[in-house]
Amino acid sequence: MSSLKVDFDIAVIGGGFTGAVISAALAERGRNVLLVEKDSAYRDKNRGELIHSWGVSEAQLLNAVETVVASGGVLLQRWKSGRGVRDLVASTPSGLGCIGIHHPDLQNGLLSRAKSVGVSVVRPARVIAVKNSIPCTVLVDDHRARRKYRVHWVVGADGRNSGVRRWIGHDVRALSRSLRITGALLRCLDLPGNTISAPSNPEQKLAATMIPVGRDRFRAYMISNPTDLRIDAKPSFATFCAGLITSGVPAASLSHARLAGPIGSFSLPDAWVERAAVGRVALVGDAAAVSDPCFGAGLSLALRDVRILSELLGSDESLDNAADIYSLRQFEYRKQLRRLHGWVRHLTFGTGIAADEARRRALPLLAADPCRRPDLIGLGPDAPNDSVAFRRFYGIDEIFRTAEMSLQASAT
Ligand SMILES: Cc1cc2nc3c(=O)[nH]c(=O)nc-3n(C[C@H](O)[C@H](O)[C@H](O)COP(=O)(O)OP(=O)(O)OC[C@H]3O[C@@H](n4cnc5c(N)ncnc54)[C@H](O)[C@@H]3O)c2cc1C
Repeated sequence: MSSLKVDFDIAVIGGGFTGAVISAALAERGRNVLLVEKDSAYRDKNRGELIHSWGVSEAQLLNAVETVVASGGVLLQRWKSGRGVRDLVASTPSGLGCIGIHHPDLQNGLLSRAKSVGVSVVRPARVIAVKNSIPCTVLVDDHRARRKYRVHWVVGADGRNSGVRRWIGHDVRALSRSLRITGALLRCLDLPGNTISAPSNPEQKLAATMIPVGRDRFRAYMISNPTDLRIDAKPSFATFCAGLITSGVPAASLSHARLAGPIGSFSLPDAWVERAAVGRVALVGDAAAVSDPCFGAGLSLALRDVRILSELLGSDESLDNAADIYSLRQFEYRKQLRRLHGWVRHLTFGTGIAADEARRRALPLLAADPCRRPDLIGLGPDAPNDSVAFRRFYGIDEIFRTAEMSLQASAT
């Protein structure tokens, strides 16, 4: 980094999942890192508890898997859906499957790791201003005093309502479409503790995901169309369980279920910035882009942001071009995943004649050949998303094949 006199090489704003992972990754690459987190403790929220297998591959590259497992992460080797049971260990590149973990356990474990590799943590303290200059300045209020830090780089990991994003003047673009996700922490379910259960009810346009998060707890989610008037935005426990059952969760598995936290309901469309880094300020995780939580990809995407940005900021050779390279790559893989999510959202939850017709054509083909479906669990944004993949997913290739066959038949 340059010879300018600074307090730290890099200031990371926000000590949630993403902030804790990136500050440790940067410290391990020899950077002197300040991490500022506004809350004194992490609370249970309905959020971020399933790391997809492709995200586990990212965590492996960041040497973070051991910490996640030691913090209570459960290795989930199987994915059970209406299409059968998938062996995730045998069928995904990570060779470990997915990980389920209670979000506050995840945050606590990763913050402890950041401290243990030398990150200076200031908590509770709120960043109230950031200046994108050389050097950058970060103004921190710790409830007793305000202090200005001079740093070479700022990383905004301050979540979906990011102040850093606002201070550096980023415009957020958002999709208008999203699904609704309703979730709660449950105990005493009669479901296997190493398997994600993800049934769906295509006729009712409902789906559920039951994620084991350790110590006899499951995060249960019901996914629906936000325009579906049958789904109460604030359901009672009984209504929530009834919705899970309609989505395909076996009623017997819920017969002793207990509620272990609040029931929350969200409709969060994808939102993103065009450039995730400008000057010496970069955004990661939800601060850079929010992915519709119904697809459970936020943590995995944040891990990829962290891997790419920490490689660039951790090496003096790439520093000058870090903002451009990170912005381009980050925009590309996020866009690819958005495209794939759009296909799945339309086919599973879309309304109207076109969506009904697409389902009529595509669902039997997908049931007969699951490889027609993009592998969102094992490959995420690296799953093919070109026009060939599109035609295979929607079964359009079959229309061409049938037409070609009948042309050939009539020509002979
Ligand atoms: C209902 C729901 C279910 C989800 N399920 C999944 C799932 O199963 N799998 C998955 O991968 N993703 C899931 N997600 C998405 C996932 O939760 C998020 O992508 C992830 O938690 C984002 O982490 P983050 O660290 O970027 O942001 P946050 O968790 O929002 O962390 C931001 C941190 O910054 C701090 N902060 C903010 N402002 C300041 C400031 N000015 N000064 C100092 N500190 C500040 C905050 O206190 C917070 O700790 C879900 C989301 C929702 C809403």
